[in-house]
Amino acid sequence: MKKVFLVPLSILMLFGCGAPKALLTADKSPIVTQMDLLNVVDDKVMVSLDPGVFNTDEVTFYIPMTVPGTYSLDNYGKYIDDLKALDYDGKELAFTRSDENTWNISNGKNLDKVTYWVNDTYDTENEVEDAVFSPSGTNILSGENFVLNLHGFIGYFKGFTEVPYEIVISKPADLVATSSLVEKKQAKSNPTKDTFLASRYFEVTDNPILYAKPNSATFQIKDIKVTLSIYSPQGKFTATELKVPMERMMAAQKNFLGEISSTKEYNILLYVAAMQDDAKGFGALEHHTSTVVVLPEWLPMEEMQKAMIDVVSHEFFHTVTPLNVHSKEIQFFDFNDPKMSQHLWMYEGTTEYFANLFQIQQGLIDEGDFYERMMDKIYNSKSYDDTMSFTEMSRNVLDNPYKPNYRNVYEKGALINMCLDILLREWSNGDKGVLWLMKELSKKYGDNAPFEDDQLINEIVGMTYPGIRTFFDDHVIGGKPIDYAGYLGKVGLTTANEEEESGYFLKGDIPYIDVDPNNGDAIFVREGIKLNNFLEQLGAKGGDVFKSINGIPIDLEAMRFVIGQSFGWTPGTEIIMKVKRGDEELTLQGGVGSPMQTVEKIVPKDNATEMQKKLRMSWLKG
Ligand SMILES: [Zn+2]
Repeated sequence: MKKVFLVPLSILMLFGCGAPKALLTADKSPIVTQMDLLNVVDDKVMVSLDPGVFNTDEVTFYIPMTVPGTYSLDNYGKYIDDLKALDYDGKELAFTRSDENTWNISNGKNLDKVTYWVNDTYDTENEVEDAVFSPSGTNILSGENFVLNLHGFIGYFKGFTEVPYEIVISKPADLVATSSLVEKKQAKSNPTKDTFLASRYFEVTDNPILYAKPNSATFQIKDIKVTLSIYSPQGKFTATELKVPMERMMAAQKNFLGEISSTKEYNILLYVAAMQDDAKGFGALEHHTSTVVVLPEWLPMEEMQKAMIDVVSHEFFHTVTPLNVHSKEIQFFDFNDPKMSQHLWMYEGTTEYFANLFQIQQGLIDEGDFYERMMDKIYNSKSYDDTMSFTEMSRNVLDNPYKPNYRNVYEKGALINMCLDILLREWSNGDKGVLWLMKELSKKYGDNAPFEDDQLINEIVGMTYPGIRTFFDDHVIGGKPIDYAGYLGKVGLTTANEEEESGYFLKGDIPYIDVDPNNGDAIFVREGIKLNNFLEQLGAKGGDVFKSINGIPIDLEAMRFVIGQSFGWTPGTEIIMKVKRGDEELTLQGGVGSPMQTVEKIVPKDNATEMQKKLRMSWLKG
């Protein structure tokens, strides 16, 4: 599932068959797919799909509406132009398009192939409201790079998702492919043609390809070969440079997982987005043996490294769940009529929790860092509906009111796992935790052995302690908010308020203000967060829209300027801010003072017992 990275401040070419067609029926012959990256026309790529012979009068062709891990309906059919269904004489067959992603082709018995043009999604991200999340999107930049999330290019025929695909790609000689797809063995390599094989449609969608000028590095972590490939428009980021921190991190992940991890190859495809008119959805999407990551070019090297560690560690842990441990809904994913599983608390929650826990267990971060991350999650989770059932949200995540709560899977979803981990440790005298549970589940299930969605929790109760049912009933199935202090207390921790310095408009990297793209990029004070004493004492309130600061009319550019200036303010500096609150315009005025913020922290209890300390060690150090 995807991991969103939040940034601070936020010619009709007919591919001739050549040799006489062997008349294999559609269920027995591979779908030969051609993609032409050499002759890009109007920023579009020509694709043709040549299946075997159909024995039905109507053949339905689909492009996915959605793909696993995105939890959004993206209608990739929108990006398809000028589809033609051709018979064996090259004549066009009639069809109807019943929705954006579905073509019903008449006279199916005569269908030889379909051809169409594909637009990329990155180009339209600024124009459409519900843009495709960039790591699951597509990019076509003739001669420069191609981000081939193949579900955006290649479709499937109804009833034939389990037939193999042969994907033949014509490509510029100086661009190289990185992908986990199997390459077809050729007698002779051709610098302008790659041929890949996929055993079924799912495999097509599960193995994105990045075409770019060579910028990659490979390293071995025990039995996994990892390749990092980068498209960086100005060459700012090189794979050799980013390899070092990635290698260290993935070695630690592998240590943490032990025998649970079985992947032999892993490809990290990093697309670095230029400042303007490029991909805007930063983060990554997981696949069985690869991930596509999209991050902005303006990140300093150090921030890029940090972002890669956070994002890729999360994606790599997805090799445990849902890629390995998952329900039937995921194993037999319907790309145009998806049924959602109830278990986002595990698919995303456990994954995100592990992405933090392994760092403390393996010594990449210290206890303080770990507590701060968990505290941030407690804090962030409060901006979602804390009484919403996680299983219900998960099952209905594509619809309202559940959809806006999806992102809580990274916050409360991780915390559910933290509490479950502490509980399991407590009841097993420190022996067993969530990692143990995932090992047991992956022994029982696995890549080709999905579980029954409504039986998972019963299974977990059966494998652990009867009392675990109450936890699931209350906080995963039910909507009872979690008393985090109670769980932290079991391991001798508590929460305490501390005063910390902040910036005037930023706390660390996190701004107190935000931009509203639905209101002409207005800058406003964020709601539902604790403000610093500078904003509080001036009387600012969440939702206030900045009109002017010290006479400067405020837009995004001006706000950046004011933030830059604020680094030079002294406590005596005077400020006049005009803000709009509802229909009212207010003037907020005064000395800027020294900005401080009350921060709630997780800290060790003074009177923690030896038992609690021991339990904490087993939790944090495994
Ligand atoms: Zn995820």
